[in-house]
Amino acid sequence: MPKNSFYFQWHITDFCGNRCTHCYLNDFNKTKVSLRTARKIMDDMQDCCSELDAETILSITGGDPLTHPNIWEILEQARKFVRKLAVLGNPELLNEKSIGKLQSIGIDWYQVSLDGLQQTHDKIRSPGSFQRTVGGIRRLVDAGITVVVNSTISDLNLNEMSDVMRLCYNLGVGKWSFARYVPNSGTCGLTAREYNNFLKEVYRESIDLAGEKSTFISGDSLMNSAIDRPQDCDSIVGGCALGGSAMCILPDNTVMSCRRHKESSLGKWMKKGDLLELFLFHPKMQEYRKTELIEGCGKCAFRFQCRGCRALALAQSGNTFGKDPQCVITDS
Ligand code: SF4
Ligand code: SF4
Repeated sequence: MPKNSFYFQWHITDFCGNRCTHCYLNDFNKTKVSLRTARKIMDDMQDCCSELDAETILSITGGDPLTHPNIWEILEQARKFVRKLAVLGNPELLNEKSIGKLQSIGIDWYQVSLDGLQQTHDKIRSPGSFQRTVGGIRRLVDAGITVVVNSTISDLNLNEMSDVMRLCYNLGVGKWSFARYVPNSGTCGLTAREYNNFLKEVYRESIDLAGEKSTFISGDSLMNSAIDRPQDCDSIVGGCALGGSAMCILPDNTVMSCRRHKESSLGKWMKKGDLLELFLFHPKMQEYRKTELIEGCGKCAFRFQCRGCRALALAQSGNTFGKDPQCVITDS
């Protein structure tokens, strides 16, 4: 049994029918990985994880991954070696046939996005998207496929998240999670205090809603300080994954440490061995691991499970190691 785990988020295509206001794609509908290259990348993921004595957790995403012409071949190969296999996609192509394929391949979960109630979600994503997403969730749940819902949080939708959580619960969603919106520059529009209050509320709601059907998880390392949950440890146990055991691969084979951190590109995957080499030795990865460089976190009791969001620090201050703009500790 491997001692560690390693997470890959793999964007196999940038084809997408939506044009969400907070999307990171610049080039819609231009690039997708070929099946031949996809097979080689998966072999390299397997080698990389074996060298690291890690089980592989793989999320296949896009664009809309279901639009990739070889999605089923890619998922079938992935299923043979990964421990956890997820698809992060859109609801539009979820029908009897595609859901049957997802069932027979045996994905561990399908993730969709809900960024608010109907009006807000449709404004952020596209008209009719809310109903399509709810319909997709219902079809997946009926088929016995675990659904994860993720919400991207900003000042546009913060106040609707309690209702989104309850909706997810009523729909039989397996997990609800969230992440802050990371703009190219500036902040997600929330003050540190507003966001801290939100985290506390989410935590309270998650306890209220905890039951057999659903779990509600924090996608944000700042939750630890919001609910005062320090751990007795003296090495990293969680928090920001920049430089950590996770990498993102784009449709043109660019490897990034984190998709939301716009300067974390490590170069293009070219050949077997590149994933391990980039992870272990790329100078950016080595620098990201110097947690002592992070402004304001050095003496914080939560530093081994938090370190804030480095992508938001970069967007706000131009410095990866700057303060997390929504941290109440560094804000005080
Ligand atoms: S920079 Fe932000 S989005 Fe990226 S891994 Fe760290 S916390 Fe997550
Ligand atoms: S000071 Fe740093 S480690 Fe502490 S809660 Fe804020 S961002 Fe997290």
